[in-house]
Amino acid sequence: MVSNEMFDLGAKSSVIREIFEYGKKRSAEIGRENVFDYSLGNPSVPAPESVNEAIRELTLSMNSCDLHGYTSAVGDNDTRQAIADNLNERFGTSFSMKNFYMTAGAAASLCITFRALTEKDDEIIIFAPYFPEYKVFISSAGAKPVEVKCKADDLQIDLEAFEKAITVNTKAVVVNSPNNPSGVVINEETVKGLCAILEKKQKEYGRDIFLVSDEPYRELVYGDVTVPYLTKYYKNTIVCYSYSKSLSLPGDRIGYILVPDEVSNFELVYKAVCGAGRALGYVCAPSLMQRVITKCVGQTSDVSVYKMNRDILLDAFNKYGFKVAKPDGAFYLFMKSPETEASAFCEKAKKYDLLLVPSDSFGFPGYVRLSYCVSTEMIKRSLPSFEKLAKEYNLI
Ligand code: PLP
Repeated sequence: MVSNEMFDLGAKSSVIREIFEYGKKRSAEIGRENVFDYSLGNPSVPAPESVNEAIRELTLSMNSCDLHGYTSAVGDNDTRQAIADNLNERFGTSFSMKNFYMTAGAAASLCITFRALTEKDDEIIIFAPYFPEYKVFISSAGAKPVEVKCKADDLQIDLEAFEKAITVNTKAVVVNSPNNPSGVVINEETVKGLCAILEKKQKEYGRDIFLVSDEPYRELVYGDVTVPYLTKYYKNTIVCYSYSKSLSLPGDRIGYILVPDEVSNFELVYKAVCGAGRALGYVCAPSLMQRVITKCVGQTSDVSVYKMNRDILLDAFNKYGFKVAKPDGAFYLFMKSPETEASAFCEKAKKYDLLLVPSDSFGFPGYVRLSYCVSTEMIKRSLPSFEKLAKEYNLI
């Protein structure tokens, strides 16, 4: 009667959502202040005031039918040019509006890109730990996700394993830096190694292999860490971006796909992106938000709060004996589970009303993810519970 595959997807909620729902139920029982929910990646820092100002100004100054009407399918010209100008200034690139396709966030950008690039039986490599929806998006495009595990010591890409995983069917490779769920930023040395392998394999197989850079967390980095801009390292790079995290606008659904001129057969690839957008119904991204981006491009929310949260947790975890991968960005910590089964560890954490996500759905068992996009005050209140948990495992 309906598609079994789609039914299964709709019927099963994600582990993260289940934990979040549990947190809501538990809050009703014991009070919100007593539940320490580290499950969801929903920004806790408000969008900058300039976003609200831009909305007010636009609603006052623009004709309502224009403001809320369809833009062209690929997006508004001024918005796309404003984004191009901003990136060119920051990264020394030379993009123009014709390189951009506006979308309803990174999820749409990825779905369109996978659909545009692949045909049946094409493979797309993803690095574990990964954002769990990659597998859903890739499979529903008709392609096959191929997992390659990152190195356990630093969670950087394992280049040797990567090279071995590339086949004649490899069409694309997805990188996500800063990473969800680990917070790790791929260092420049690894980027160069990855691109060298891609160049070599393109030659060997005589076909294009695209590097898809999923980067909603690009601006969320702490300290003097830089996130290499991948179009400068590898010509066949396509960027999937979103303002969900950098401007704290996840509910407003706005982002873009960037196809640089240097991509081989640019016209063909860009047209395929337009076609996939059309086939999936992702045309004319939200009009009001496109105009907001034109005005606010280059700005971010106050990400210093995330740095403060990260530092408080890292300090505490070092004291309590929990092991965490070096988190240079995003708002996630990836903690090694003190027992083999991460889900058993999460159950024990629940006794202290600490809600953590086991890493199995990220393709990298034996860890838990904490989203620290929560109030600093909640983090501070949760520390005694982490301490008790550490004691239960004899870590201190
Ligand atoms: N990619 C990664 C790595 C994410 O963490 C997320 C959302 O959490 C997305 C893509 C989807 O982002 P959006 O809300 O812009 O669709």
